[in-house]
Amino acid sequence: MTRARIAQILKSGEPGTTVDVRGWVRTKRESKQDFAFLEVNDGSCMANVQIVVDANLPDYASLIKQIHTGASVAVVGEIKASLGKGQRIEVHAHSLKVLGTADPATYPLQKKGHSFEFLREKAHLRPRTNTFGAIARVRNALCAAIHAFFQARDFLYVQTPIITTSDCEGAGQVFQVTTLDLARLQQSKSPLDYSHDFFGKKAGLTVSGQLEGEIFATAVGDVYTFGPTFRAENSNTTRHLAEFWMVEPEMAFYELEDNMDLAESFVRTIVKDVLERCPEDLAFFNERIEPNLIASLENIVNHDFIRLTYTEAVEILLKSGHTFEFPIEWGKDMQSEHERFLTEQHFKQPVILTDYPREIKSFYMRCNEDGKTVRAMDVLVPRIGEIIGGSQREERHSVLIDRMKECGLVPEDYWWYLELRQYGTVPHSGFGLGLERTVQLVTGMTNIRDCIPFPRTPKSADF
Ligand code: ATP
Ligand code: MG
Repeated sequence: MTRARIAQILKSGEPGTTVDVRGWVRTKRESKQDFAFLEVNDGSCMANVQIVVDANLPDYASLIKQIHTGASVAVVGEIKASLGKGQRIEVHAHSLKVLGTADPATYPLQKKGHSFEFLREKAHLRPRTNTFGAIARVRNALCAAIHAFFQARDFLYVQTPIITTSDCEGAGQVFQVTTLDLARLQQSKSPLDYSHDFFGKKAGLTVSGQLEGEIFATAVGDVYTFGPTFRAENSNTTRHLAEFWMVEPEMAFYELEDNMDLAESFVRTIVKDVLERCPEDLAFFNERIEPNLIASLENIVNHDFIRLTYTEAVEILLKSGHTFEFPIEWGKDMQSEHERFLTEQHFKQPVILTDYPREIKSFYMRCNEDGKTVRAMDVLVPRIGEIIGGSQREERHSVLIDRMKECGLVPEDYWWYLELRQYGTVPHSGFGLGLERTVQLVTGMTNIRDCIPFPRTPKSADF
């Protein structure tokens, strides 16, 4: 007999059928009338299946004594209509096997709720809780929706390297990758020589697949990458990780307006998909985590995003009369508090800001004629702020060289990137969406560390 998933049994299990259920016990209740109820969960859905164990079962007393919260069991039994309230059906055990016990004196996940801080220290067990099981399912649904969105539009999924020798943002937030013997280097007086390193030059973990994405976009048109991204930024915030997943579409022949249209339709479509696929999990988040969650997600799905320039946004912030921790002025980067004010209080909608000052944006963004701004676009959403950063890329060879120099980069280091502009250059655009910030948006979880299975942050990379 093959194992049945509990989600399937609860949805469509018919009384009278025999099923094989395996999972972890959430609670055990012993009744005086000589039977026991086990609430068993296998992670396939939020709800548990109720197992009724009759005292006539061989070895009843010794089996029940072994079972506590956290134990793993295998049950073969018959589905019956449930007389109790709260569930349609239950399973009456014909056989019950304890696969693994869990000592109640030491098992960390007891019935009472635990704080998310505590659960972060138990990352090996937290997926067994309601909240983290639901996050895992929602994250999975988001990944499927992301691929479905691009595949339906004939984008090619391209894999860009994780180890790279080009620093995309030029921001020096790169984790170095080396096989040099650091202990020996420290002792010797000789200067660092990367020609002895594994790749013969300084290498690091990728901060973005964009530059390589552009190679494929300018050959096959529409592509996307979807993979892990690493940034050694020492910012201990609730929306930064040192290792996160980013989706980066890159499109030839797209100008900024096309890029905004795609980004908006992308966010609205994947949110809609998750609302449809995970109603039970979202209802849980709405009840336990963020009371306004489902309404805010439906608002995203059903309304056009607001579009305005950075300059217009700064004016709104200055006129708002609101006191910010970091005062804003034209030329300064927006902080999360400014982004959230715009999308939560002022517009009450997701917002796309465009045309940022060139001083605060990367070298590859297309320069505007005003000499002051670039064709950047950030998508801002309630509760988080920036969820997407993107731009139209600078496709003019000589302008790009000047801009690299202005940013303190050495054009020769980017020789292949420049050749894309030398040979058959085309207007093109792209953006990056952070997966974990999207999980935050869709679940209402306030800390990004709870939106990835194994978070990496400054001083923390356990599990
Ligand atoms: P921020 O200003 O919020 O630090 P950024 O402008 O540095 O973000 P981009 O380089 O534009 O980020 O990256 C594109 C997207 O990747 C962001 O909009 C965000 O969703 C996500 N992202 C960037 N950095 C991180 C990080 N450290 N942890 C998690 N997600 C991130
Ligand atoms: Mg950005």
